[in-house]
Amino acid sequence: MRQAGAVKTLLLIPSCCLLCGLTSAALGASAGPRFYGDPPDDHHPWAVHDGNRPQPVRVVPGTFSQPDQPGKPPSDARILFDGKDLSGWQSDKGEPAKWMVKDGVMTVVPGTGQLLTREQFGDCQLHIEWAAPSKVEGDSQGRANSGVFLMGMLEIQILDSYDNVTYADGHAGAYYGINPPMALPIRPPGEFQVYDIVFRRPIYRDGQVLDPGYVTVFVNGVLVQDHTPLEGPGTHMTRTKPGPFPEKGPLSLQDHGNPMRFRNIWYRQLPPRPAEGGTDGWLTKEATTAKRKEIAASIRADAASLVNASNPAPEMLRLMESLVYEVDAPTALKAGRLAAAYFDKLKGKSAAELAPMKDEVKQLRDVFNYLVRFGRLPTDFAPRAAAEQMIKEQGWDKKKP
Ligand code: MG
Repeated sequence: MRQAGAVKTLLLIPSCCLLCGLTSAALGASAGPRFYGDPPDDHHPWAVHDGNRPQPVRVVPGTFSQPDQPGKPPSDARILFDGKDLSGWQSDKGEPAKWMVKDGVMTVVPGTGQLLTREQFGDCQLHIEWAAPSKVEGDSQGRANSGVFLMGMLEIQILDSYDNVTYADGHAGAYYGINPPMALPIRPPGEFQVYDIVFRRPIYRDGQVLDPGYVTVFVNGVLVQDHTPLEGPGTHMTRTKPGPFPEKGPLSLQDHGNPMRFRNIWYRQLPPRPAEGGTDGWLTKEATTAKRKEIAASIRADAASLVNASNPAPEMLRLMESLVYEVDAPTALKAGRLAAAYFDKLKGKSAAELAPMKDEVKQLRDVFNYLVRFGRLPTDFAPRAAAEQMIKEQGWDKKKP
């Protein structure tokens, strides 16, 4: 995205460069913008396009599955079944898993009970592939039935829904008993079907719902549950109600008496939501204030490592940057003193001596304007006037004829 102003460039200028005449373009290209959009507010601890905001974690993507070949999970996935064994699973009685593993696939052994992961987890992106037997037997819920039980509680239905009529909230991809899938993008029996599920458990505090929890489901890449709010576990014949879930639970797969096959099961843990301490998204005022204080303190600590009597600019800029997150009178005072020292050093210099400083001074002026505009510095901030005066005297704002 094109940079809209000079503030972004100045605030990331390395300490060694500010006073040595490197161009802003070169500096910007080497380090990227710090921030330049609207500043943090009561519900967002970060500025728009904030260069201090942590970078997303790098993930090496996997590959998509083919009918005869399971795909490769992404690099940060936790593998629940890779086709080799059932060491990560147990029966619902806590005994070793009794389903069959052969040729990279695990198959329900009817009557042995549902399978549970030994690992317990909550919010997740879950990937699972399943296939109904090629030979079609039974109908409605009696045909090739299984299920994915998130946290061992709510069931995302697995069913051979191909040319099979049943109640809508019991089809493949249904949030069972609660919400039908929006479509039935099901392949014929015998072929592997791919479920990708995003699950967010309900969050309650003191009996009050902070987040109802949601489930999103793609069947063979087609969206069938769109951020569907949770209404309890859902079950056969009985209407369940919204309510809290535990922090974690096992993933479980249903033995419904059919020899269903499974392969390539993995999940990725999801980051916390604001309601449970996450800092991305719309935060409460209290959480935002706390995070902004933390960011400001971190930047001030960094500023302390930039102290340099012969070049006050880097420390000054970092201190000013901290004011974007938290207005703090001693910090503003110190940054002001350093800014004054910067312009004192330039006093009495000739136009030729000042010429290399043109871009830096103009950028400083823009930083001061940014901070004044958003109430972080007073409108009568003296170095701002000094910068403006120098720019005017040197004719640096004049366009070339
Ligand atoms: Mg089922």
